[in-house]
Amino acid sequence: MNYQLSADQARLQQDVTAFCADVIASRAKKLEEGVPAERDALMRDSLKRLGKAGWLAAGYGEGGLDHVALYLVGEALARACPATFVSMRSSVHLCAGAIRLFGTPSQKDRYLKGLLGGDSVGALAYSEVQAGSDLGGITAAAQADGNTWLLGGTKDIVVNAPLADVFLVLAWHDRATGPDTGMSLFLVERSAQGPGIVGRVETMGLKGVPIASLSMDRCPSAGILGDNPGQGLSQIRRLMSLGSVGMAALGVGIGTACMEVSTAHAKARSAFGRKIGMYQDVGFKLADMFAYNDLGRMLALRAAWGFNTNDREADTLAACAKLFASEAATKIVNWGMQILAGHGYLAGSTMERLYRDAKFGEICEGTSEMLRQEIARRELDRFEGV
Ligand SMILES: Cc1cc2nc3c(=O)[nH]c(=O)nc-3n(C[C@H](O)[C@H](O)[C@H](O)COP(=O)(O)OP(=O)(O)OC[C@H]3O[C@@H](n4cnc5c(N)ncnc54)[C@H](O)[C@@H]3O)c2cc1C
Repeated sequence: MNYQLSADQARLQQDVTAFCADVIASRAKKLEEGVPAERDALMRDSLKRLGKAGWLAAGYGEGGLDHVALYLVGEALARACPATFVSMRSSVHLCAGAIRLFGTPSQKDRYLKGLLGGDSVGALAYSEVQAGSDLGGITAAAQADGNTWLLGGTKDIVVNAPLADVFLVLAWHDRATGPDTGMSLFLVERSAQGPGIVGRVETMGLKGVPIASLSMDRCPSAGILGDNPGQGLSQIRRLMSLGSVGMAALGVGIGTACMEVSTAHAKARSAFGRKIGMYQDVGFKLADMFAYNDLGRMLALRAAWGFNTNDREADTLAACAKLFASEAATKIVNWGMQILAGHGYLAGSTMERLYRDAKFGEICEGTSEMLRQEIARRELDRFEGV
């Protein structure tokens, strides 16, 4: 076995980490301040700069998706600024990723260059206020109108909605056949006919992420993803499974940023005549933080490598990586907050921001409960007949 990254992967990791530290990290605090229009402009500029530097397209080469490259870029970006990671993720991993995986050649031609180059922004709108984990409960629906589809309904929490040029919207096209074949992902371009961007959504963490609700009333669609009606739910499931490695990158990136802040504080802060890092209670927290974070990274890279090599266990490993790294991140920020104590609890401190940001991982793109069910189901299937 060889746990080392290849020379190319190591160079990618080094270069993207340096870029994010240099260009993105200083924006993390600014993204939490100011009026929404200023924050949105800063986010759009960050996505553009990441695109121009080639980081959004890393992993999307001609030879198929490179999940290790996607992970390495994701961890570096999440470490520098979790909010920028989440905005990038909706535009690139989810919207462009879905088009790349399932789109027709003309859909790829129309959208991928802009999304991967950072010139346009994408969003994925699937859940609704009454239906998050259980997507069979959505009500958004499309009606055929000549050669096109008109969408109606509301999507309540959509990352990038205030900025997005193109949306992928999950909606019914045929309720009678049930969710597995009656839903499709519809491409929707921002236009005067909709979708309406209503109700800016403010969140506990990730405050720099532009989030709003979509309101659709006879909103024209630019077509069904892949021209393949009825695949919406299975496309979302595949996207979420492959995307679990990216969500693990978010957890590990947050964990790494937290360890940097905590270690620096433990080395600088003195109490009762010693640096606090010299007290076992503090040192053991740092040790646990390192162990949990590195385990999350190893699981995520193993899953990414599994996807690259068509390992049949890759989906299970990816679910384990997202589950473990997300829960590890919330443990790590809790330990970090304890080490920084009052200095961490102050509004505006890096630790306070990371503490608020971390919880997202356990909730979105498969809650921890749904992932445990998924892993258990696969495990039971594996030993079928035993
Ligand atoms: C910051 C943020 C950004 C978001 N961005 C987007 C976006 O861009 N696009 C989009 O479409 N959506 C987005 N969402 C919505 C997100 O997808 C949902 O919040 C998520 O899917 C969870 O759904 P829910 O909140 O409705 O929880 P629910 O599904 O109602 O779950 C509530 C609780 O019940 C548990 N539960 C549910 N079913 C079961 C079961 N069968 N067994 C055991 N436990 C169960 C869950 O694990 C959870 O603990 C975003 C949400 C947030 C907070």
